[in-house]
Amino acid sequence: MKTTRLLQDTQDDLTIAAQLIRDGELVAFPTETVYGLGADARRENSVRNIFKAKGRPADNPLIVHIAGLDMLNQIASEVPEIAFRLAEAFWPGPLTMVLPKQDCIPSVTSGGLDTVGIRMPSHPAARKLIQLSGCPIAAPSANRSGLPSPTTAKHVMDDMNGRIAAVLDGGQCEVGVESTVICFDTPETIHILRPGLISEEDLRPYARQVYVDQAVFTQIAPEAKAASPGMKYKHYSPKAKILPVDAPDFEAFRDYVLHHQQKNLYCLLFDSDSEIDGIPCLHYGDSGAEQAHDLFFRFRELDELGAELVYVRMPRQTGADLSVYNRLMRAAGFEVIRL
Ligand code: AMP
Ligand code: MG
Repeated sequence: MKTTRLLQDTQDDLTIAAQLIRDGELVAFPTETVYGLGADARRENSVRNIFKAKGRPADNPLIVHIAGLDMLNQIASEVPEIAFRLAEAFWPGPLTMVLPKQDCIPSVTSGGLDTVGIRMPSHPAARKLIQLSGCPIAAPSANRSGLPSPTTAKHVMDDMNGRIAAVLDGGQCEVGVESTVICFDTPETIHILRPGLISEEDLRPYARQVYVDQAVFTQIAPEAKAASPGMKYKHYSPKAKILPVDAPDFEAFRDYVLHHQQKNLYCLLFDSDSEIDGIPCLHYGDSGAEQAHDLFFRFRELDELGAELVYVRMPRQTGADLSVYNRLMRAAGFEVIRL
């Protein structure tokens, strides 16, 4: 067991965190999406320790975080024109681009692939940490593999205390779900591997074609070769069973719930829904942005409350809302009640 230090978003503590990264240690840090579990992306042993601390399958690649475009050229061997246009439009921000990797990124970081996912985060503490460390930082979400991604430093501590050197507390994450991950099938075709706040519609002005991978909507077989390896694992789920209910309106949802009750049942509703008599309910916003912000936070709250089954109001599948839909469906193992 290590002692995990809780650091604050101050110049002194950022200096300590950066020194830990330079020493090859693991430091969890805030980004605008979720908390990341960071190590020097170029150091095999350190990166291997990320997989160990999370219990993450070795073929699930890590995203490498950078603070400036100079770092992009150090870790990507080819950067197409379209990637520069997207970087200009969306970086720093929640967009990850998969590009051919340079040799300085070891295959343990890229999950054995010859490509690497790269992102420039906008959270000031993340940017300062990368700058002070002076290296690209590989960072998956800082949860134990399979659990909901952490959106506060407390969530990280709950999962990682004793396993990593430090957690840098930068408050609650603004976005709340992980970045949009894209690759380029051709120099003018954007392939969305994982939906995030930056939507298909947002990307459309920058390419001739933009499309979303099938794995976002349906469960892919465990033996299938996934364009994005992370998409084949069950993910994001709390201990409670999550069951989305696709109802035409709140009244239909409520009727279903009232006729299908069990012990330790909870509901996760939109803010505009009213309560359901006799059943404890939490709410997770109305818009896609609100729902993204709250979803993982509510999942962890439901576990603390001892929920065993949670009926969830179904988010939309359009725009940024698709990121919420995807996380919810993954948490549910794609099981859904359709009314
Ligand atoms: P996480 O670090 O938990 O946010 O997960 C990162 C996700 O990004 C992985 O699960 C992959 O699905 C995706 N990803 C990262 N690097 C690559 C890559 N080189 N090729 C395809 N997908 C990637
Ligand atoms: Mg993750």
